[in-house]
Amino acid sequence: MFENLTSRLTRVLDSIRGQGRLTEEQIAAAARELRMALLEADVALPVIKDFIDKVKERALGAEITQSLTPGQAFLRVVQSELTATLGGTAEPLNLRAQPPAVILMAGLQGSGKTTTTAKLARRLKHDEKKNVIVVSCDVYRPAAIEQLRIVATAVGVDVFPSSVGQSPVDIATAALAHARLQYADVLIVDTAGRTTVDQDMMAEIAQLHAALNPVETLFVVDSMTGQDAAKTARAFADALPLTGVILTKIDGDSRGGAALSVRQVTGRPIKFLGVGEKSDKLEVFHPDRIANRIIGQGDMLSLIEETAKKVDAEKAAKLANKLKSKKSFDLEDFREQMQQVQNMGSMESLIEKLPGGAQIQAQMKNVNTAKEMGKVIAIINSMTPQERKFPDLIKASRKRRIAAGSGVQVQDVNKLMRQFETTRDMMKKVMSGGMAKMMRSLAG
Ligand code: GDP
Repeated sequence: MFENLTSRLTRVLDSIRGQGRLTEEQIAAAARELRMALLEADVALPVIKDFIDKVKERALGAEITQSLTPGQAFLRVVQSELTATLGGTAEPLNLRAQPPAVILMAGLQGSGKTTTTAKLARRLKHDEKKNVIVVSCDVYRPAAIEQLRIVATAVGVDVFPSSVGQSPVDIATAALAHARLQYADVLIVDTAGRTTVDQDMMAEIAQLHAALNPVETLFVVDSMTGQDAAKTARAFADALPLTGVILTKIDGDSRGGAALSVRQVTGRPIKFLGVGEKSDKLEVFHPDRIANRIIGQGDMLSLIEETAKKVDAEKAAKLANKLKSKKSFDLEDFREQMQQVQNMGSMESLIEKLPGGAQIQAQMKNVNTAKEMGKVIAIINSMTPQERKFPDLIKASRKRRIAAGSGVQVQDVNKLMRQFETTRDMMKKVMSGGMAKMMRSLAG
């Protein structure tokens, strides 16, 4: 996410950060560099102009000139102006309506609307314990109706049936009546998208809007289209009272132009980011955290939240206690650790939230950590319990059998044994102090 923009901005800011004094020329030069970086990121021109003007104005003011650490102060100004450009504060989903709260989803075909409908439904059901129903009003593509049914069912959300041949407004009103009868908290309505903004589509969604009176009308847009995403959102905002935007495919967007342009071009807040194809890949949009990520400062808050959600606290506590009591670390413990890490989801999404994460990620492009970890677990699985408990028993002939059993080469088994031994040594050293404490604190 935003790797290119982040590495450019980090370079500019690093060169200025340590400065004890900032001259007007230095500020002007930095502003030029920032401008270039934003142009390259495909940010809308008026947004760039506004941002640079504000940064320059503040940089020449007392905030920086009288600061004891002007370089740092400059960084803070950039961070705060980026936050403002991104919308200032997070705007949570508004569900304060007579239930069911209706969420109308709009967007072009292929923007990720159906995927996002299911992601949002999952989030409301699992994280917020809402009773959610979804319905598709895409009567032009039977495949779209079926797609929503499949993805929503996969996340355990009820789907109101619809079919081609019905009118979208009829479907929507029937779904709303059904949701009322079911005492649903939320009804999410997926709609038909076209490949471009067109009058018929606009008219249809306006009718749906009138029939449903949604509390949220969200525009879903593909962030890979850069500032065009903001322009399309603007066209929709002109026709419909949009309450927010969801940017999808952020995981593939190295530039950031859409994220930085949407708020100012549309006047509407970004509410969520789609950060992957899977149904749990939806993040709440926090302008300040994203600004930090963009300038290479990482997003520790989101990282902590994400980790806390995913670590199985009970298991972590058990493992810590077990390690402490038996004081020896075997391959079963090693496997359990790997599984814990695997459960935390893709390493990439965690790493990119660390300060300097974008750079680490670039270096790791060729290493498929998830695959490597899966391999390690498969190898351990094909050992006997005895071997897992007493790894030193594993001699060459056993290694060949284990390799054959898990479909890998003997070298892979050797590599795993080395990794295990290093980890065991490390565990021995730290078990008395740091690690045990850390694992216990994670657990609760
Ligand atoms: P719709 O036509 O607007 O309903 O779009 P879909 O929901 O069918 O999505 C189009 C494609 O984009 C599918 O292949 C999705 O898996 C993919 N997609 C949607 N959101 C994301 C995202 O946040 N990240 C990535 N990488 N792919 C996404």
